[in-house]
Amino acid sequence: MKKSSNSASQKRWQDYIRDVPDFPKPGIVFKDITPLIADGDAFSAAVSELACHIDSDVDAIVGIESRGFIFGAALAQQLGLGLITVRKPGKLPSRVHSVEYELEYGMDRLEVHRDALSTGHKVVVVDDLLATGGTAAATIKLIELLGAEVAACLFVIELSFLHGRDALGDVKVSSLMHVDS
Ligand code: AMP
Repeated sequence: MKKSSNSASQKRWQDYIRDVPDFPKPGIVFKDITPLIADGDAFSAAVSELACHIDSDVDAIVGIESRGFIFGAALAQQLGLGLITVRKPGKLPSRVHSVEYELEYGMDRLEVHRDALSTGHKVVVVDDLLATGGTAAATIKLIELLGAEVAACLFVIELSFLHGRDALGDVKVSSLMHVDS
């Protein structure tokens, strides 16, 4: 694993995340990453810091639709790796594996192309935010259905008070910024 050359503090990342109360529905505080990605230096520093958590034997980055694609693509490009997209239902054109998971109200589904990865591949999963862990857990299931292994999950923001990492089993989890309440 490469050593982090970036000593950016928790406080520094907070400066680039906008809290939007009651979006997309009452009671939710939406963590808006658009100020972070709009700032070239901050975006680049965030991607570099995430990259420090990726071992050299990783074969590909897996990005979760849709904000996971932003960080996933930048990371993949920086590390010279490919990007595998895990998408919402009906978006991928070829044959898919599909996993259903629970939301606060109801169910949702994520999909991956059946030929995206195969046995022996090692990947890192990337998304903007870890809340309850349902989305990332479904993504891990998809990767495992392909016979591949998830080496780590990376997030820009982790809502630690929701204990989402407990839903991810033994997979290593790292986040740039933790929100404790
Ligand atoms: P979860 O499955 O509960 O861990 O939710 C994570 C997914 O939902 C990620 O793809 C996030 O982009 C999105 N998400 C959940 N809660 C928030 C929030 N408070 N602010 C921004 N995105 C969120």
